[in-house]
Amino acid sequence: MKKTDEQKDKVLDFIRQIVAEDLKSGKHRKPVTRFPPEPNGFLHIGHAKSICLNFGIKVENNGICNLRFDDTNPSKEETTYVESIKEDVAWLGYDWGERPLFASDYFPQLCEFAIALINRGKAYVCQLSPEEIRDYRGTLTEPGKNSPYRNQSVEKNIGLFEKMKNGEFAEGSHVLRAKIDMASPNLNMRDPVIYRILKATHHRTGDTWQIYPMYDYTHCLSDMLENITHSLCTLEFEDHRPLYDWILNALDTPCHPRQIEFARLNLTYTVMSKRKIMQLVEGNYVEGWSDPRMVTLSGLRRRGYTSSAIRSFITAIGVGKRDSWIDITVLENSIRDDLNSSAARKMCVLDPVKVILDNFPSGQVDEMEAKNHPQKPEMGTRLIPFTRELYIERSDFMEDPPRKFHRLGPGREVRLRYGYLIQYVSHTTDEETGKIIEIHCTYDPETRGGSAPDGRKVKGTIHWVSAEKCSPVTVRLYDRLFKVENPEADKEIHFIEQLNPGSKITLNRAMAEPGLVKLQPGDNVQFERQGYFCVDTEESKEGAPVFNRTVTLRDSWAKKK
Ligand code: ATP
Ligand code: MG
Repeated sequence: MKKTDEQKDKVLDFIRQIVAEDLKSGKHRKPVTRFPPEPNGFLHIGHAKSICLNFGIKVENNGICNLRFDDTNPSKEETTYVESIKEDVAWLGYDWGERPLFASDYFPQLCEFAIALINRGKAYVCQLSPEEIRDYRGTLTEPGKNSPYRNQSVEKNIGLFEKMKNGEFAEGSHVLRAKIDMASPNLNMRDPVIYRILKATHHRTGDTWQIYPMYDYTHCLSDMLENITHSLCTLEFEDHRPLYDWILNALDTPCHPRQIEFARLNLTYTVMSKRKIMQLVEGNYVEGWSDPRMVTLSGLRRRGYTSSAIRSFITAIGVGKRDSWIDITVLENSIRDDLNSSAARKMCVLDPVKVILDNFPSGQVDEMEAKNHPQKPEMGTRLIPFTRELYIERSDFMEDPPRKFHRLGPGREVRLRYGYLIQYVSHTTDEETGKIIEIHCTYDPETRGGSAPDGRKVKGTIHWVSAEKCSPVTVRLYDRLFKVENPEADKEIHFIEQLNPGSKITLNRAMAEPGLVKLQPGDNVQFERQGYFCVDTEESKEGAPVFNRTVTLRDSWAKKK
């Protein structure tokens, strides 16, 4: 019993350990966490780390986790982003209770708190220009200088703040600042701005407000108002923690959440910040936020990633305190593992070349039984038509194959998966291009299902479809969006120049076995020997699916390097 408890402790990351201790000691009855996105873009896989951590703690401890939109910047935020964020969090399998929360819901209270700070002599209205504020702040090595407005009377500050609020001043002319310490070694503590004038329309509060609270000020107070117990954020906020604590202490708040920082997720072959993803979208380097090559959650979903694969990826990488890079193969392997056990196997020829079986009667159709999953008989079987004319993959035939090539070529015999053994007879080529036009073979009627009664060995097995009964489909072969591990590493080269020109290849005449056209948007499938594919949710039509390659069967980048 004791041992299992210890073992359990070992697998908890450092944040979950803190939560467990706080529950054990009785400091908290249940954890209350929150995921606080700013609605200024779509969520990416980095956000999934924060979502799975915050909502995971809730689920594991029967706690609460709020979805709170940090919507304090009216000029950058849009309702479409709010909707996409809700969709992504729900898709990941999490539930935020009755309704999502918004920092803007607290604007009235935040304004009251600002007045309370002024009354306590802990905030003042400053009329320095933004440039002067910057100059007065000092540097990492030099202390700042006090603003000449720092020691104004409480009455004066109250009057000025009221006028800021009533829209009597121009943007940039006045700000409210916390009165902390202009000589603090921590720049965040040098009388930070907590309110500014913005004459912008807010997506929820419209034109009610002329002043907007700053992030640091809003965040700790929103946490406090929601009785958050553990406020989890990424490492770059470590230097903001003293300010977080200062504001709550200055107001003597009844609840004081504990801020804990963890390392953000960095993934190779991607860019992760919303600002950079926005540049890819706005510069049309990709087709929108949900482009299947993007590491946005909507892009990954459209690519064919399942939410369970993303959750197991996040579990696998863990939560730590040191910044590190995760290799993208870890993410790719998570979806391979997931689809390996769940995706039905089908046959689709991506780059077809025709094979004619000279001894197979014209018009005859043999129904071949094929397994939908080699390890899962419960997934059943299907019948696929075998006819005189077939398609095989162009790369499965070579005119002059080396010895190790175990597929089709002059003098060779090969096995057609779930079909027959076929023997090469002849082939024709286009005189101008040298491209193979068609290959003639004979089939051995004694080898139905793929084995020869005389026991002769045939090494290679290839996939095929009936040329008469197949359906042409569009297939998009997606690959990594960037050609280098860290697109931002080289200061001389802009990350846009590191885009992989081969990240999307569209095949308009792939040939699919008959049942495939019945798949529905979002369905996952394995094309045998080719990879995992998913029916595109935006461009597929009834009976004419477009397939997106989610991932190849094996990592093809490892050997390229
Ligand atoms: P970006 O840097 O991409 O613009 P952000 O931090 O500005 O992201 P927010 O909407 O403010 O985006 O983030 C919401 C939450 O998600 C924050 O708590 C933030 O720390 C967390 N988060 C953002 N990016 C990552 C990441 N790469 N890894 C882990 N958590 C992240
Ligand atoms: Mg942010």
